[in-house]
Amino acid sequence: MSIAIQGIGVSSGIRTAIGKVLMLSRGSIQAEPGMIPANRIEAEVERFFHAVQLAATQLTEIRKEIPADTPADILEFIDTHLLMLQDKAIAEAPAQTIRDEGCSAEWALQLRRDQLLRVFEDMEDAYLRTRKDDLEHVVNRIMGILQGQKRNDPAEIVGHIIVSEDLTPADTIMLHHRGACGFITDFGSPMSHTAILAASLGIPAIVGAHGASSHLHSGELVVVDAANGTVLADCEPRQIRFFERRLHREQERRNALQTLRDTPAITRDGVHIELQANIELPEDVKAVLEEGGDGIGLYRTEFLYMNRDQLPTEEEHYQAYVRVIQGMAGRPVTIRTLDLGADKQCEHQPEPAACINPALGLRAIRLCLKETSIFRVQIRAILRAAQHGPVRLMIPMLTNLWEARQAREIIEEERQYLAQQNIVMNQPLPIGAMIETPAAALTAESFARMFDFLSIGTNDLIQYTLAVDRADDSVNHLYDPLHPAVLALIQKVLEAGRRSGKDVAMCGEMAGNPRYTALLLSLGLKTLSMHPASLPEVKQLIRRLDLRQLKPRLEKLLLDPAVEDFAQAMEELASD
Ligand code: PEP
Ligand code: MG
Repeated sequence: MSIAIQGIGVSSGIRTAIGKVLMLSRGSIQAEPGMIPANRIEAEVERFFHAVQLAATQLTEIRKEIPADTPADILEFIDTHLLMLQDKAIAEAPAQTIRDEGCSAEWALQLRRDQLLRVFEDMEDAYLRTRKDDLEHVVNRIMGILQGQKRNDPAEIVGHIIVSEDLTPADTIMLHHRGACGFITDFGSPMSHTAILAASLGIPAIVGAHGASSHLHSGELVVVDAANGTVLADCEPRQIRFFERRLHREQERRNALQTLRDTPAITRDGVHIELQANIELPEDVKAVLEEGGDGIGLYRTEFLYMNRDQLPTEEEHYQAYVRVIQGMAGRPVTIRTLDLGADKQCEHQPEPAACINPALGLRAIRLCLKETSIFRVQIRAILRAAQHGPVRLMIPMLTNLWEARQAREIIEEERQYLAQQNIVMNQPLPIGAMIETPAAALTAESFARMFDFLSIGTNDLIQYTLAVDRADDSVNHLYDPLHPAVLALIQKVLEAGRRSGKDVAMCGEMAGNPRYTALLLSLGLKTLSMHPASLPEVKQLIRRLDLRQLKPRLEKLLLDPAVEDFAQAMEELASD
């Protein structure tokens, strides 16, 4: 009988991997206290600096190995680690400890790590928590070098399933590039870097498979069933045959999906669905075009503000937007104004007053209306860029009409200012509201009257409706897109759109999850915006649906109190 270890499945497209285990030791490496004789202190300091240098060389080599078309956010993981390796707190402070305490490089590094981790732990901030993982990964790399840990021969990796306590983003990329076919880690949540990376690289992975690295051993054959979050070992031949067939079907399906690129997303009964993409950087346009996106439904501009010391200038905004608009060659581009705050922080963000819950604090439009000079710079750049192609401007996190009015007034003032500067602006700039708070959803009709379009941001709408922090793993199980309250709010927004004749799009993660496609279309959504990698699968599904048949059955289902598993019932309906 086979042995099953349960974790959380992460995948996009291919959900199965079959291969031999390659065990990697990548957990938190502990050092023993060690003293160094006075005459060897400087040599020990040198040994430490050499390890830091080697860690940077290894990361630079990995970065060079990554194919040029790798999404920018993946490269950023490595760049962050390279930057950390230059930070004095990591790269120099332990040298001082070696000199002051006369201890070994390993021990000095461990003391420093523990000190920094305590600082991170006290911060209770989702974004900084992810930085804590980065710190661990960087320190572990240096520690591994100091302890003479063996690096795997690239040839060993091909076709193997990597099992480890944890993996760094850099390891994940490198192992993928060297031919690993799946990952299993003891730790990690679906929001962890490794999970995000595995999904965007299209590698089946199981994270949070507690005990996997102690129960499995190198060389044994295992199955990664990412659809169910299960690792199977000691399988019988018939189980292996089952998963081999499944993997084959998944591969065929992926190949078939590639052919859909230039096919429109039209249901069997002729309803055209606009499939747009969410992007973070101008470089992402390439992926949108490759996956056949009809436009950009959400350009998250806050990434322009991150990893830098200065605020971006109007010209930098303008150049970035023009690159996206020109890249999309006539397809619509929806630029969302700055949504900093909560889980998205940047270096020069104005300090919030003692804020224990940043998700409810000064984020997005609230921050922009307080720091209007920052907002105005962005608005001017969007107005100017809009002369190069079809642009729409979208405002996040609205809860009040007066916020909406104030934002619109600022946009109008900047338009007039530019006109006075003789900057010609004769292209329309539709302005939309993101509906991502229950307050905005419940009063969506007023927002619909005031704006040209609405876009439902389900990531935040679900978080605020269900009082579930979207970045907190411990309440992950409560984050339910199908909660009746969430569905009622979505219906309310769609109804507001119908009554006022305004378009309603959806751009949260829910829009890109094929599990919800039939539901969302039946509710009346005609524009969905998602991660570019999700476009082909959602399109394929749309082309199989017949909304004339589906809608009345779904309406009955929504009203049926006897339905216990709504998600399951939905899936059965859509696959009939
Ligand atoms: C959302 O909240 O659904 C959304 C799309 O915005 P973000 O994920 O950037 O907050
Ligand atoms: Mg949001």
